[in-house]
Amino acid sequence: MTHPAQPTASHFINGEYVEDTAGTPIPVIYAATGEQIATVHAATPAIVEQAIASGQAAQKAWAKMSGTERGRILRRAADIIRERNHDLSVLETYDTGKPMQETLAVDATSGADALEYFGGLAGSLTGEHIPMGEDWVYTIREALGLCVGIGAWNYPTQIACWKGAPALACGNTMVFKPSEATPLCALKVAEILHEAGLPAGVYNVVQGMGEVGAALVTDPRVDKVSLTGSVPTGKKVYAAAAEGMKHVTMELGGKSPMIVFDDADIDNAVGGAINGNFYSSGQVCSNGTRVFVQKGIKEKFLARLAERTGNAVIGDPMDEATSFGPMVNENQMNIVLGYIEKGKAEGARLVCGGERCDMPGWYLQPTVFADVTDDMTIAREEIFGPVMSVLDFETEEEVVARANATEFGLAAGVFTKDFTRAHRVIGNLEAGSCFINSYNDAPVEAPFGGMKASGVGRENSKEAIKHFSQVKSVYVRMGDVEAAF
Ligand code: NAD
Repeated sequence: MTHPAQPTASHFINGEYVEDTAGTPIPVIYAATGEQIATVHAATPAIVEQAIASGQAAQKAWAKMSGTERGRILRRAADIIRERNHDLSVLETYDTGKPMQETLAVDATSGADALEYFGGLAGSLTGEHIPMGEDWVYTIREALGLCVGIGAWNYPTQIACWKGAPALACGNTMVFKPSEATPLCALKVAEILHEAGLPAGVYNVVQGMGEVGAALVTDPRVDKVSLTGSVPTGKKVYAAAAEGMKHVTMELGGKSPMIVFDDADIDNAVGGAINGNFYSSGQVCSNGTRVFVQKGIKEKFLARLAERTGNAVIGDPMDEATSFGPMVNENQMNIVLGYIEKGKAEGARLVCGGERCDMPGWYLQPTVFADVTDDMTIAREEIFGPVMSVLDFETEEEVVARANATEFGLAAGVFTKDFTRAHRVIGNLEAGSCFINSYNDAPVEAPFGGMKASGVGRENSKEAIKHFSQVKSVYVRMGDVEAAF
């Protein structure tokens, strides 16, 4: 019998499901059991052509609709997503392995938030009027054209919506390629958008590995590329986009610092460290994986952290009591196990975890290392798994310098009761998404994105509008034209 997660077909193009079984089969493995639950096929060149041609053909008419009409469709899609939150959360859990406790609360709902927010903004996207004496200039905020979205595997529904919603609100069309590791959820987003009234061709989904992504990025008909992925992929995609002078948004990796001063509320800081390292089994780009703890409270912090980490309920992701699920796939589990071994070999002190769980599926224990030093591999490289490094520090000046000594700049957090210090430290940290006495909140109203190697551009908020539109300026002369001859 076909598994309920098996989609109708691999791709969604021009308002309907499309299949081409000549494409490389991509098995969908449920991370909690290791069982294959579905198969999709990578896009062939014919499928890529169909998707790009349909996105291009639909764009002008979509941009000509009023913003309010476009927004109404996005908001209707948000309502449908909320009504079907349970089924979409089950699908997200099949796609990623993340526990229902998380997917019910965060994934489809944050996608709906983006559709609702940008749907609401769509009718108010306007230019300006700039008086120049008797003359004037006016500006028009125009769509870029056809956008390509490429997703990572950790938040397949959210990423499909975070890219699609602002793009469509501005009058662009999109071809979205989900990660080959989690191909299912974006298809549902496309289906629901069309059910909500989206014209055919405005939002298309194609499957595939890096080659399909590269074919989309290099197509001359594509005007903008928005990638969520790792820094090495970001460098390739940015370079390929530059070749065609395309707009880009790059949401890439991180190795973010979370700084805990000795006056912090310990339980809140421990809660922040847990949220910033173990949510989604640590597969979150903005995680605060370098937890700098001021020396005076280090042992107390570690004791409380170990105690609370021991309360994680590891098990069946479909059971709502489960609070910690498996890694997305076997490959990622093995990458993370490799980092855990490096942590042990390089002399970090294992506080808890450090092993694969003795059960089917790709489960790792939530792992904490203490006495980590800045030069250790686990303190320098993005692990993308449930491995927290706790580092000691003594002074504010020292910790700010060490926190910034990385190529990454995605996120940063500070825990302290001294608000003057909190704002001063945040002001000195090189990171795009920052938190004071909290960690990893990402409301659609706030800009999200990285500095340095962690990214270019911002998602969410009004900032995203700037990255999915361009400004035309028009000088209007009321009098005669003066010329030299
Ligand atoms: P990845 O870089 O391996 O892949 C990301 C996507 O790019 C996939 O869809 C992949 O098929 C595609 N791709 C690969 N090579 C390509 C190429 N040459 N041209 C075009 N597309 C190509 O990343 P991943 O392993 O799927 O995800 C984990 C990474 O994503 C981590 O580094 C994480 O920090 C990052 N991430 C960032 C954010 C953010 O918002 N900043 C959010 C989630 C994940």
